[in-house]
Parts: sequence; structure tokens; C-alpha cells
Amino acid sequence: MAQMVIHGELVNSVGGATEEVRNPATGEVVDTVPRGTAQDVEQAVGAAKAAFPAWADTPFARRAEILYKVVALLREREKDLAPLLTKEQGKQVRESVLELRRLAHTIEHYAGMGKNVRGGYVPLLDKGKYGMILKRPIGVCASIVPWNFPVSLMGNKIGPALLAGNTVVVKPATTAPLTVIEVIRLFVEAGLPPGVLNVITGPGSVVGEALVKHPAVRKIGFTGATDTGRRVMALAAEQIKRVTLELGGSDPMIVCDDADLDHAVSAAAVGRFFNCGQACLAIKRLYLFEGIYDQFVGKLVERTKKLKVGNGLDPDTRLGPLHTDAQRREVEEQVQDAIARGAKILVGGTRPEGPEYEKGNFYLPTLLVNVPEDARMATEEVFGPALPIWKVKTLDEAIEKANQSIYGLGSSIWTRDLARANLAAERLEAGYTWINSAQIIYDELPFGGVKQSGVGKEHGSEVLDYYMETKAVVVAPAPEQTK
Ligand code: NAD
Repeated sequence: MAQMVIHGELVNSVGGATEEVRNPATGEVVDTVPRGTAQDVEQAVGAAKAAFPAWADTPFARRAEILYKVVALLREREKDLAPLLTKEQGKQVRESVLELRRLAHTIEHYAGMGKNVRGGYVPLLDKGKYGMILKRPIGVCASIVPWNFPVSLMGNKIGPALLAGNTVVVKPATTAPLTVIEVIRLFVEAGLPPGVLNVITGPGSVVGEALVKHPAVRKIGFTGATDTGRRVMALAAEQIKRVTLELGGSDPMIVCDDADLDHAVSAAAVGRFFNCGQACLAIKRLYLFEGIYDQFVGKLVERTKKLKVGNGLDPDTRLGPLHTDAQRREVEEQVQDAIARGAKILVGGTRPEGPEYEKGNFYLPTLLVNVPEDARMATEEVFGPALPIWKVKTLDEAIEKANQSIYGLGSSIWTRDLARANLAAERLEAGYTWINSAQIIYDELPFGGVKQSGVGKEHGSEVLDYYMETKAVVVAPAPEQTK
């Protein structure tokens, strides 16, 4: 049985309850984890609070040194961790390796920033007076992560939080906590002092809420659904806590008539079907210029038909199962809603048939056209392998439609025309715009949604502003020195 990590020790829940983690491809139990309670939260936050003063006082170079050791351990253990991630999450094992590499890259990025944290000095505020801008850690931070990229999304939070001198309590999703626990054990193995990084498991409505409400938790970094983010923000507001919320998205991709079609088709297929479509940054709405519509759709249909659905542990698989049956049902309902309103399926639209698919949450990669603009697929986030496609006449029309969403996470445009690209970058309401590029996140650039896709930024040097307090100090000379 997997256990939580509190004060550097492996522990069970105080209440002793456990829950099963099941493989989405087979339904088999992968392992069990403690079903945590508010009492466990108390212990974990207590450990993080006690560890804070010493960690906040630890030089940046030493903090970075531990993070670099974690990176080395992650690279060494990648082969053991990847199948575990596939078994609990469902993703193809190659994608599990990519996620673990992404995590290592992110932690390395923050270790590297350890030599570049700066405050400020402001001369001559008044005669003889100067100002200083101090950067201090915040305190105990909660990192609440979802199941779609459980370890890399955790890295986006704990990397900057730890480098900045905060201590952390991580809360993984109930259905994908195992690799998170193993990764946190690597941090302990790398020499992180006890209590600096803790992990508790259990239901979001119990453990997650207790963490958000705990008075000693000063900042919440949350990634998950927009509705849960709304709840977290409301709870955090009661004590005016800092929040970073990375929430849902419905990313539009616009392909103009002068685009490099082959690369754009590849980006659309990978962008929609990577991780079985369960990515916040997946391409969820496709707008094609009339002139290239038929050719583009033809190529995308061919590519989609070739994607092999199966158990993520099979090296030939390109699309694993959806993470849960509830997730699959939601996608099915969204597709059915579109069909009922007149949409046409070009490929997919059903579960695959065969004995190997009976026990898992499989669904065929799906392309649809004629989806009305008030259909659920157009207005909601589609968190699975189904993509609605629309024809547009002009860039103005494409941008207007792209912006007709409550979400504003990512967006992309494919064109060889600099003026079109610049216009899209200026006008698309999103935290990120990719121009002629697949939707890849870079640690070097700030990431975070607008509208109901979230508040605050992760990545980039900007993230440190979200994990540090900025304090102003005025220094005046002593009276005898002014004479
Ligand atoms: P979710 O909101 O159901 O759960 C996310 C985490 O919050 C889990 O650990 C869960 O246990 C916890 N939680 C649930 N209720 C809670 C509560 N009341 N208080 C505190 N914590 C609570 O999300 P999910 O289904 O795991 O993930 C899918 C969603 O995440 C999608 O909407 C996706 O777009 C979004 N997402 C966003 C980003 C981003 O960077 N913007 C990245 C990945 C996923």
C-alpha cells in the first residue's frame, strides 16, 4: 500500500481508511492509498509550518543544490516511474516518459533560477533616505493538482515554491496519487529537510477544502476544473489568501489559407489527441479558412483513423483510455448533444469494439463538423478525444468565434502572413498564442489563463512573484548623521 509523506515519514491516515487506485485500461486495482481526513491535513500543515523558518533561512544555492539532486534522481528512476504513471493515469507509456522529463526539466529550471533572485534598491527617496525592496517567502503553500498530468503540474508549483523558501503540502487527485507520492519520496531522498514537502491523499471535498481553509496555509496553487477553482477562490477569500488558479480551457486553433498544412495537421492531431484529449491546453475548437478546408479535413481524417487505441503499456498504442468512466460519459454526452443538434461525425464517435476494450474507458478519436455554435462542444470544455471543426471566411470571423468562450487559456494560428499572425497575437483572448507552432509549454515563458481559465501565472521568472512576498523598506539616517 502507498502511504502519505508527512515530516519526511511514510504515514497512513489517522483514521486508517484507504481507497483503491484503479487502472483505467483494465479496471484492475493498481494500489491503495490512505483516505485522508482533516486531521491528516492538520498534521501535514503542522509539519510544513514547523519546517518553514529553517527552510526560509536556507541559502538559495543550497536549495538549488537539493533541487538539482532531485533532477538527477528523476532521470535515473524515469524507467520505473513511467509504467506506474501509465497504470494509474492511462496515458501511453511514451507520454509518461515525456511527462517525467518535463517534470525534471521544470525542477532544473527553478534550480537554475536560484542564482538570479533579486530584490531592489531605490536611492534618495528624500535627502539621505533610500528604499529597499525585499523578497521573502510566503510560508506554507498548498499545491492541489489534477489527474491529467499529475507530476508535471505538481512540478510547476513545488519547483518555484521550494526555491523561494516556502514549505509545501501537496494534494494529488484521488485517482492518480501514486506517482506523485513516489516523486515526493525522491525529494526526501535528495536531502530536503523533513516537513519542507509533504503529501496527503484523500477526497478534494474533505482534504482539499481543509487545506484551503487551514489558517496556516498562506497560498494555494491550484490546477483543475473551473468550477472547483471557483470554490477554492471563494474559500480562500474568507482569509484573503493568495491563489494561483490554472483552470479549464477551450483552445481555438485557426488555420489560414496560406498555412503550412502538413505541419498544421500534425499539430491539430497531436494537440487534440495527446493524453487522450485530456489536456488543459488541448486544441478543442478548430477554425479552418474555406480555401484549405477540404484538403485539411481530408488529411486530418486520414491521420485520425490511423491512431491505435489501446492499453498505454502497449508500445503500439497511440491513444490510451480516458482516465475515468465518468470522464468518458461526459465526452459521449457532449458528442451526442452535437449530433442531436445536427452535427456530423467524420470519424470515431463511438467506443471501440473488441474484448481488449471491454474493461477500460476507451473511446475512439472523433472529428465532427456542422456543430452548432450553441452546442455543448462549442461552449463547454471537451476533456477527451473529440474535435469540432468549423469553416471560416476571414481572420476577423475566426478571431471573433475563437473569443466567444468563457475560457481563455491557449490559442494558436497557422499562417505565413506576419500581419495576420500579429493581429491574432494581439486580439486572441488567451494567456498564450502559438504562431505556426504546436502547443508546447516552455518553462521560460509565463503561463496562465485569462477569463475563466484562471488567475496568476506559473512558469517564467514571473512565477516567483506568486511565491514570494514583496516588502518595501525605507531607511533614514540616524538624527546625528544628518547634521
Ligand atoms: P478537479 O477540479 O476535479 O480536481 C483537481 C484537484 O482539486 C484534485 O486534486 C481534487 O481532488 C481537488 N479538489 C476537488 N474538489 C476540491 C475542493 N472543493 N477543494 C479543494 N480541492 C478540491 O479537476 P480534474 O478533473 O482533476 O482535472 C481536469 C480539469 O483540470 C480540467 O478542467 C482541465 O482543463 C483542468 N486543467 C487545467 C490546467 C491549466 O494549467 N490551466 C492544467 C491541467 C488541467
